[in-house]
Amino acid sequence: MSTHRFEHHEQAFQIRNLRELQHDPYHGQEKLAEPSACAQCGASYHKGRWTWQKADSYAVLKLCPACRRIKDRCPAGFLTIGGDFYRQHEPEINHLIVNVEMKEKAEHPLKRVIETHQAAEGQTCMTFTDPQLARAVGEALYDAYKGELKFDYQPGEFLLRVWWTRWS
Ligand SMILES: [Zn+2]
Repeated sequence: MSTHRFEHHEQAFQIRNLRELQHDPYHGQEKLAEPSACAQCGASYHKGRWTWQKADSYAVLKLCPACRRIKDRCPAGFLTIGGDFYRQHEPEINHLIVNVEMKEKAEHPLKRVIETHQAAEGQTCMTFTDPQLARAVGEALYDAYKGELKFDYQPGEFLLRVWWTRWS
């Protein structure tokens, strides 16, 4: 199975259209009754979509795909942030990341950050419940600060790895 790598140019933006990133296996594990609601986060499932609309009182309680991924510690997106520039501007960059997450999550309940941790060689790793959120955060960092942005995905997998690096 080949690995697709993109530098940040026009080709990178084709990722948003890739079919394999549209079909989360966590969605299809069981047929959900409608309406259903997430017992953890309160998102509701109606007409085939998860939204933040308040669920009907008779909704069946389940875990939404995002809460299941968080519980299973099974990310669909990874972002690795590297380079000295992040260390020098950490509060400002973290603020941007939180803004992107909040905006995306407000519209799409299944787009969440799972965790952020320090990795080897001063890198920071973030994991996400949705590959498109990893992409959105990476692109926001690149749009704001330039640097270097890379994507890597395996065809047929609902999984995207993103690297953003800026040294000075
Ligand atoms: Zn949930």
